[in-house]
Amino acid sequence: MQLKPISLKNECPCPVGREKVIIAGPCSAESEEQVMATARQLKEQGIRTFRAGIWKPRTKPGGFEGVGERGFPWLQRVQRELGMQVCVEVGNARHLEQALHYGTDMVWLGARTSTSPFATQEIADALRGVDIPVLVKNPINADLSLWMGALERISRSGVTRLGTIHRGFSSYEKTLYRYPPQWQMPIELRRRVPELTIICDPSHISGRRDLVPSVCQHAMDLGFDGLMIESHYLPDEALTDASQQLTPAELGQMLSMLELRVGVPTENLFADCREQMDKCDAIIVKALAERMRISRQMGDLKKKNNILVLQSARYEEVVNAAVAEGQSEDLSVDFLKKLFELIHAESINQQL
Ligand code: PEP
Ligand code: MN
Repeated sequence: MQLKPISLKNECPCPVGREKVIIAGPCSAESEEQVMATARQLKEQGIRTFRAGIWKPRTKPGGFEGVGERGFPWLQRVQRELGMQVCVEVGNARHLEQALHYGTDMVWLGARTSTSPFATQEIADALRGVDIPVLVKNPINADLSLWMGALERISRSGVTRLGTIHRGFSSYEKTLYRYPPQWQMPIELRRRVPELTIICDPSHISGRRDLVPSVCQHAMDLGFDGLMIESHYLPDEALTDASQQLTPAELGQMLSMLELRVGVPTENLFADCREQMDKCDAIIVKALAERMRISRQMGDLKKKNNILVLQSARYEEVVNAAVAEGQSEDLSVDFLKKLFELIHAESINQQL
């Protein structure tokens, strides 16, 4: 992908003096009083970039869908009276035009918008010639190509200050998280586009305020460039996403507790471990090759005896045995299942 975004670190400095982009504010702008009180308290915590949803993309109709245009004068007060930058979600070209009309400093595309190439392209077209910072949330479904496609559409509009927000992915299964993070997705994005600013949104990932700190720490440990966190002066009374919002004081406290690690080791600290790991990897590759050779022999036997390739009962046996063996060696059940699903699928391929 042709992408040359620049860092957003100067736009959204971190209050605790760390080299991180920090954006905070309520899920939704609800009233002038709520916006001003929350922004004032966030400023006391050192936050300089304030977020608030003006239009809310709700899953079901009939709920609070945002205050709309009448919320912009409140955000202008935040800019004027508190000297903070403001940032809103835009879901179509009309939203963007209004946000620009009211002098919004920065915009983001939400997870439902980046899922739609039509909506994203419409916003990209409206961004031509407008150089404000733009953040693109990951699409709600875990599809890296769609995520990168949305970034590329916005990048092609000429925006130079571009970043992305990892906010987790929808899942049919009930999990601990509201939107499971699937960390391998942003990790792969970082590998493919190393220069891209990637921010984590722990609030939508967590869905519960008690999980927010650990998700933030996880993102920091992985080297994310910053955080967008939902914060409300009276979280329990919030009209949207009440259970995941922190008070500004809780947010400030959490930020001060984050541990930040350095990027690259200065000395050859890992040489020993890496050498041992490389040896293990070579053993794994040899064992896999041997297993596939045996699979092919099995395949020949099945063919000669006119027996179906897929023996489901055997599959259960293989996975259960591996899980039992691996668990006694402290490996996670989830990892073992995924690994042996892959190994089994490749074995079947070898027999076809
Ligand atoms: C939000 O930031 O409040 C929001 C609606 O986010 P998402 O698009 O990630 O659901
Ligand atoms: Mn929200």
